[in-house]
Amino acid sequence: MKIYINGKYYSEKDAKISVFDHGLLYGDGVFEGIRAYHGKVFFCNEHIDRLFDSAKAIALKVPMSKKKMVEAVVDACKKNKITNGYIRLIITRGVGSLGLNPYLCKTPQVIIIAGDIQLYPKKLYETGMPVITVGTVRNHVEALNPRIKSLNYLNNVMAKIEAINSNVMECIMMNPQGFVAEASGDNVFALKGNVLRTPPSWCGALEGITRNAVMELAREEGLDVREDVLTRYDLFTADEVFLTGTAAEIIAVIDVDKRKIGTGKPGKVTIKLLAAFSELTKKNGVPII
Ligand code: PMP
Repeated sequence: MKIYINGKYYSEKDAKISVFDHGLLYGDGVFEGIRAYHGKVFFCNEHIDRLFDSAKAIALKVPMSKKKMVEAVVDACKKNKITNGYIRLIITRGVGSLGLNPYLCKTPQVIIIAGDIQLYPKKLYETGMPVITVGTVRNHVEALNPRIKSLNYLNNVMAKIEAINSNVMECIMMNPQGFVAEASGDNVFALKGNVLRTPPSWCGALEGITRNAVMELAREEGLDVREDVLTRYDLFTADEVFLTGTAAEIIAVIDVDKRKIGTGKPGKVTIKLLAAFSELTKKNGVPII
């Protein structure tokens, strides 16, 4: 694997950044997880737009244009012969002092790892996945807005620990007001009748690229799609629940806190949306040429 750091490529062994980088010292930086399907970088421009918004929100100046960033992502895929894969794009604040002051960090580090990912075992996509809700609340929007895809994922990691300790692979986090926010690394949807609902990002969720694509696909399928405030009750009593994310794609949830969802198997709508999503991966994206 050849890893991109600030315009140069390094072997896995030699791809290193400083221990004084504030990305490491403070989780000070931003990132994106992007997929490539069928020789194209899926929703590449949307990911780059979100990356730049995340960077702006933390007052981090991205050291290149959006256009150059897209070119760099495509080039990293090409160099690694990726046609289907997973790309991790990271911008750290760069090397600074041992103090917090980000303005002492002069050179952000742009890192692109073009590889692969299998988030959940294949079988879980057929059977659906049980989840729990956890006590770790999602970050308050005015503490660290979950819309910022920052390198500081400890809030999510703490939730994931709770999930794994309870023998499930994913969990649902509430916001500080007690409403559903999102999963530790995915967005959440609940279907009841013809109404498909997902929390608005102001409720403490990342505005997922997959989420947005699925909302559009669901509208094309004739569903009444709404961004809405949800409680655990809405999940417990839903006909179908599923999670969306770049790495996760679309995965059915069949159990929430031991309440069986629907029939306890992936629902018809979830399966239909998965098929529509799979078709979309053939069409959308910036070609890797
Ligand atoms: N929420 C969180 C906390 C995430 O980390 C992610 C991405 N893994 C998502 C939602 C899904 O976002 P996207 O569809 O853009 O990958």
